[in-house]
This record gives sequence, C-alpha cells and structure tokens, in this order.
Amino acid sequence: MVGLEEFYEILRDPVAYGRKLKSEGHRRIVGYFCSYTPEEIIYAAGAHPFRIFGTGDTIHLADVHFQAYCCSLVRGALEGALAGRLEFLDGAVFPHTCDSIQRLSDVWRMNVKGPFHLDVVLPVKLDTESAKAYMSDVLHKFVRDLESRLNIRIEKGAMQDAIRVFNRIRRHLGRLYEIKSEQPGIISGSDLHAIVKSSMIMDRDRLMEILPGIVTELEREKGEASEPAGKRLVMAGSICNHPDIYRIIEEAGGVVVGDDLCTGSRYFEGITIDQDDPVVAIAERYMARPPCPAKHAGLYERARHLVNIVREKKAQGVVFFFLKFCDPHAFDYPYLKEALDRAGIPSIMVEVEDQLPSEGQMQTRFETFIEML
Ligand code: SF4
Ligand code: SF4
Repeated sequence: MVGLEEFYEILRDPVAYGRKLKSEGHRRIVGYFCSYTPEEIIYAAGAHPFRIFGTGDTIHLADVHFQAYCCSLVRGALEGALAGRLEFLDGAVFPHTCDSIQRLSDVWRMNVKGPFHLDVVLPVKLDTESAKAYMSDVLHKFVRDLESRLNIRIEKGAMQDAIRVFNRIRRHLGRLYEIKSEQPGIISGSDLHAIVKSSMIMDRDRLMEILPGIVTELEREKGEASEPAGKRLVMAGSICNHPDIYRIIEEAGGVVVGDDLCTGSRYFEGITIDQDDPVVAIAERYMARPPCPAKHAGLYERARHLVNIVREKKAQGVVFFFLKFCDPHAFDYPYLKEALDRAGIPSIMVEVEDQLPSEGQMQTRFETFIEML
C-alpha cells in the first residue's frame, strides 16, 4: 500500500521524525497530549501539532516526580522531556483532562526548560449551555496565548482553512474505518492502527498527500479481498501502543472492526461545522463528540455510545484495552461492562504496561474468549 511504510517509520521513532521536521525548517512544532487539544488552532498558527506518546526510554528521571502507579504515557512523556529528547519542540500544550495529564502539566512547567508551556482548561461537564460558552471562552484564550507565545496573529481565514484540513483528515480516517468494517480482510488491524496513530504526529500536509490515495486504493480493492473468518470485535479503552495486539487477536480468530479508543476513533470523530466564529465551531465539535472518561456528558452516555458502536459494526464482543494505572478508564469499566452484559454483549478486559504480557498467554486468553462468542 502506497505510503504505509512512512506511517510505520514514524511510529518506530517519533522523536527522529520530530527532529527531521525541525531540521527541514518546517513549521514550529508544538507538542500536545490527547485529542482534547485543539489541533486546528495550532495549525492555523502556522505550527505543527505533534502528539506525544512517550519516548520509549527506560524511566528513571520521571520517577523523581511521579509515583510508579501513574500511567506509562505520562511517565514516558516526562522522561523524554527531562532527558532532553524532545528538544525539537517549540512548545507544549496540556488540555485539562485526566488527573495524570493535569499533574504532568504542573511538573513539566516547573522542570522542563526551554519550550513554552500552555494549559487549556476545558470544562469537565460537556452537556450544558454554560459549558458551551465556557468552552468557547477557553479556546478564545488559547488563541490569544498561542499568538503571544509564537508572536504571530491567527487570522480568521487561517482558522477556517485549518478547520477544512482537519475535517478532510477526519473524513478520510472515518472512511478507512468504514471500509475496514465493510470488508475486514482488506487491511490488517495493525496497518490501520499505524495510519491513525501516526496521523497525530505526521506533517498534516504530507498526510493529506497520502491519505486520499490509500482510501482510493482500498475502495478499488473492495470486493476483491477475501473475508477472514474472524469474529467481529470492538476494542474500547485508552491509548494503544501495541500494534501487535491486532495481529494476536487476528491469529486467535478475531478481527477488530471498530473501536472507542484514544488512538482510534476518538481522535477523528465529529466534523467541525463551519460558522461565523471558527473558535465556536471547534468548541461545538468538542461538545458534540462522544465523551471520554475524563469528561462528563450524562451518566449513561459512554455506555450508550459503546453499545451503539457494537450494534453498528455488527460486532460479537468487546475487548477492553487499558493502560495500567489509567484511573479514568478503570473507573468507567464496571459500569460499561454492566451495560454490555445487559445488552447481551460479551467482553474481555486486558490491562497492559509498556510491554505486552507474553504473546502465548495473550493468544490463549483471546482464543478462549473468541471461541465462546
Ligand atoms: S481518555 Fe480522554 S483524557 Fe485520556 S487521552 Fe483519551 S481523550 Fe484524552
Ligand atoms: S487517560 Fe489514562 S492513559 Fe490517558 S493520560 Fe490519563 S491516565 Fe494516562
């Protein structure tokens, strides 16, 4: 598939990719955490939004600031920053989401020298009129903060262009997911994961040179590829740093046809609808997007959303995939599982650290689960 290797290369070494962008005199590079960071505004500021997932280093510097029971994403990101491996960043943006990211922001502000630091203190509750007004105010402030840190002015036209770019990216990623669900054998789970995850890191102009070609290629091949015998599964949870998990599931007789993951559909869900104030348009997308566990939009919204995905994708079961010590997802798990049980949808829960447990052990667990579906 054209361009696929480029996505894998970025995931193998995102730091090298960031340095390469920097050395090419690319846009200024702004690191960010989590899809609640308004990437469109960063892009409209003439900068490049670069998602930080940790650097894969052995963690020892971050241990001075974080207990071992913080998730590996925040510990890994801090380790990379303290070790000077993120020196190519011109700034870092921290959205107000889970406790771990909020504390990471504090530790980063006090200990990481050099790049500018910005918080985006979004509302936690997302289903009220006042939250909508508050969300817009916060994003307007983020525009002003970014203008002052980068010493530029963000024009309305640039913002509208950025919204169009990100809407195109989201539509293409969404279409890839639809194609995968329509014909699961057409692209492997690991390949799809690599495309979506590296889309959060890659130069977005380059991304839009490659992505439409991949969608066209798969549309053309649709109907030709043979169907795997796999049982259809939905994956739900936080960050997935393990492309191998998709292969293990496939070898155990399953196939992931949809997800509710931070490294999956949660990244590209929802289109920003053009309106007079582009910042309000961005705020409205966040308000309408299905919430993650660090946000609230009604007591049952997440369960309703998950059951809907399963029904829509005609899936037979759910794989919960959590990073160890990720409290928001762990807290939501019992109620989500109960909702799935009530709807007659079987599920399995897998919790991982930086490394996957032994492959044989995982394979056996998945085989047992998939056999009973
Ligand atoms: S669970 Fe929510 S806060 Fe955490 S990374 Fe995902 S979108 Fe961000
Ligand atoms: S949502 Fe979970 S995985 Fe993501 S940063 Fe917070 S604790 Fe870590």
